[in-house]
Amino acid sequence: MYEWMSRARTAVLDSLAPARCASCGDAGQVLCEACVAFLEVAPPPLIAGAGARAAFVYDDEVRQVLHHGKFRDCRTALRALAWLGASRLTPPVGAMVVPVPLSRGRLAERGYNQARVVAGAFADFHGLPIADLLERTRETPPQSTLDRSARQASVAGAFAAICDVAGKRLWVVDDVLTTGATSNAARGALLDAGAAQVEVAVLAAVL
Ligand SMILES: [Zn+2]
Repeated sequence: MYEWMSRARTAVLDSLAPARCASCGDAGQVLCEACVAFLEVAPPPLIAGAGARAAFVYDDEVRQVLHHGKFRDCRTALRALAWLGASRLTPPVGAMVVPVPLSRGRLAERGYNQARVVAGAFADFHGLPIADLLERTRETPPQSTLDRSARQASVAGAFAAICDVAGKRLWVVDDVLTTGATSNAARGALLDAGAAQVEVAVLAAVL
């Protein structure tokens, strides 16, 4: 069979098939009970680099869901995982949830911002408002292609507040934290703009 035909067939079958667990692939639910049980006994929220809190360790189970979320349009599983994650995190009292934005180029490519899906679940779970208060001031290379020091240099000054944040308490949310360079840059931009308190939470942190 031609490769394109095979790909098209897979896409059609995928769209007709019942839900599969985004983590283990078993048919049934977007996240199966076994995988959820595993996540619940995984290590508790931790203080990762950059003073951020992470709901989960970026292990194989979480990676599967995030990669589906990232490279296929599979927001349901990501949202389910983020909802579970939200229950393990405590936002600042009265905070507004701020997703880490994607660059325009990457947003156009992917169609949606994964950090915003996570932030939406965190906000809904805790009954907090969500607001896009940050923008990317320039394109940055994908962080996964860079080493630690290059990451810090590449995102320094890459964010700016786009609304008045003076005196506000903010909860910045991202999907994955690796070195903390991105969340640090986002938090710095909000503090520079006068925010009273900025805490960072991520769905998963690479240890
Ligand atoms: Zn599963």
